[in-house]
Amino acid sequence: MDKRILGLHHITAIADNAKRNVDFYTKVLGLRMVKKTVNFDDPGTYHFYYGNEEGTPGTILTFFPWEGIGKGRNGTGMATEISYSVPAGSLDFWTERFKTMGVETGERTERFGEIYLPFSDPDGLALTLVHPATGDNRAGRDANGITKEEATRGFHGVCLSLEEIEKTAEILTDVFGYTLFKQEGNRYRFSTDAIATAGNIDLLELPDGKRGVNTAGTNHHIAFRVKDEKIQMEFREKILARGLNITHQIDRDYFFSLYFREPGGVLFEIATDNPGFTVDEPQGELGTHLKLPKKFESARTEIEASLPLLN
Ligand code: ZN
Repeated sequence: MDKRILGLHHITAIADNAKRNVDFYTKVLGLRMVKKTVNFDDPGTYHFYYGNEEGTPGTILTFFPWEGIGKGRNGTGMATEISYSVPAGSLDFWTERFKTMGVETGERTERFGEIYLPFSDPDGLALTLVHPATGDNRAGRDANGITKEEATRGFHGVCLSLEEIEKTAEILTDVFGYTLFKQEGNRYRFSTDAIATAGNIDLLELPDGKRGVNTAGTNHHIAFRVKDEKIQMEFREKILARGLNITHQIDRDYFFSLYFREPGGVLFEIATDNPGFTVDEPQGELGTHLKLPKKFESARTEIEASLPLLN
């Protein structure tokens, strides 16, 4: 059981303005800033992690805000919609809140017997709220006019847009242990029973779809969750055995990572639960300090001066 893929670990997207991104996810959506750090490959850029109170994998949405990068476009070869789980009966609260706060929303739609409320973040990133048919026992948090009875619980799933789904589906089923739950038109839902939440991946087949443009308002990659780096390396072998390229194990300070591009073009990551976000600041202070990887600590003054203002 513990050796399986445990649903989603995190999703990483691209934003433009950093302050606008923080304001939206912490104040409008009520997520916790779980970690405020920099892009380990580009320390003049922030890397924000938003999630639940504890920073649990399966609730973590992260952003690289690149000022002036310009608006991207959703398309094939990328993750094109993120679904957050919310409590039963809370969609009216969210509709009203989004209206009051000027958030762009779409028409509610039904998929697989669940009602989805689509909305966009200020960069146009496509998100939905949904009450999962299977329920969700994760705790929400009180934040800025949102009570626990309405608060988001973490991910329900993510949708990938693909020209053709077959080879991506094979990775999900043959390597990651997902099974096809149901099909509705060109949407195929794959789920895992290894975990009760954040376990859905929708594959949307768009044979004539345009390729996406991966800048602001689009997703950069999705990360699948494993318990530790030993199990992670077993998945590395399985990916290599399929003839795909995969990186070596990379230490991201809060988890260990492997990256590979699945055959449909989406960048997949496999990330570990350990060591977790409390490795460099206590639970109660998560996200309140600018944390830098060790290699950049000696340049802290210059880095802090170069980062955009958030207040
Ligand atoms: Zn990642």
